[in-house]
Amino acid sequence: MKTPFTASLAISGLAMLAFGITVFAQGGAQAGRGRNGAPITIRAAHVFDGKGGVIQNGVVEVQGSKIIAVDKREGPVTYDLGDATLLPGMIDVHVHLNWYFSSNGKYGGRGDTADYQTQAVLDNARKTLMAGFTTVQSLGAASDKPLRDAIAAGVVVGPRILTSISQIQGGTLTPDQLRERVRQAKAQGADVIKFFASGSIRDGGKMNVTQAQVDAVCGEAKAVGLRSLVHAHDPASIMASVKAGCTQIEHGLFADDASITAMKDANVYFDPNIGLVLQNYLWNKDHYLGSGNFNDEGFAAMERALPNLPVVFKKALDAGVRMPMGTDAVAGAHGENAREIIARVHAGQSTTGALIGATSLAAESLGLGTTIGTLAPGFEADIVAVPGDAIADITNVHRTTFVMKGGRIYKKN
Ligand SMILES: [Zn+2]
Repeated sequence: MKTPFTASLAISGLAMLAFGITVFAQGGAQAGRGRNGAPITIRAAHVFDGKGGVIQNGVVEVQGSKIIAVDKREGPVTYDLGDATLLPGMIDVHVHLNWYFSSNGKYGGRGDTADYQTQAVLDNARKTLMAGFTTVQSLGAASDKPLRDAIAAGVVVGPRILTSISQIQGGTLTPDQLRERVRQAKAQGADVIKFFASGSIRDGGKMNVTQAQVDAVCGEAKAVGLRSLVHAHDPASIMASVKAGCTQIEHGLFADDASITAMKDANVYFDPNIGLVLQNYLWNKDHYLGSGNFNDEGFAAMERALPNLPVVFKKALDAGVRMPMGTDAVAGAHGENAREIIARVHAGQSTTGALIGATSLAAESLGLGTTIGTLAPGFEADIVAVPGDAIADITNVHRTTFVMKGGRIYKKN
């Protein structure tokens, strides 16, 4: 969703944090590598590899930051997690870590101190990791960059972050100006480009740019080696994005059969957000009401859209569209990301398919399919555990009990 308030960016505090990284990085990194030599072994009743394979009573062996073995074996282990399911660290391909409720309880409230803003964003990052999401793609805000870098340096606790740093709006910008925006984002260190080709669900979601504008953004993104993710609700904006060669469509709540077929034929990724974002706005209506287009009409539009969410998802699923799991998590939703996986199963996807969408397929969509999202030798040791058999009961993914990221344990209940 569009960010109406740039004033709520927690840039200043996080920039100061990033400034301190150089000082802390050496000590932090060395402490991280304190896992010197001895491998860590983790056993659980079920080990889901991220690609569809399950080992009963499996063991994952970790050395340093990497997985070195996944197998069945006898004998003692470092951590025996009993009747749990081990999964690759989960991945959410669409979040907004900079969204939080202000000190007056409102979204987009004014007057928050820099410290309040910084703590709110850090809290979002910590909650996301503790929920078992070891990698997220934030789409995106300037505050993501120092946060990304501080987490990568081990200075603060949070998921691995890829970010668009900014969100590009078409408006009256010419194709040349849009190409320049893309190059600027690349120069600022963006991992991905985020563009809006339609309005929000609260505004009706109609295409609000020209084909030439979409072509410029997605074409230039490709030229500078970045993926392009496009916010597109209606069939016209989806078709334009597919035609422009964009990498991934976000939302697509009004996708029809033709636009679903177009996404499938072009092998474009589709990230419909069906289980968290609109529900979260409605649960937190009091916090959002009065900010931007969060008015009575906007809330009515979101209520009307709810029944269509599982329908669009199921159509795309049946058509064979690749759908990495993204939530569009905003204020109030951070740490609730797994609800999206559960919603996909309720909408008709297999538990295995839904888990693949949040692990190996999500990693592939980020261009990280050979480093994260799979439990196999050589992959990053991003490993989470949830209670019981997650394949039999998907709701277990919302009760993460163990979180390891890059070989370091952040949570162990
Ligand atoms: Zn969004």
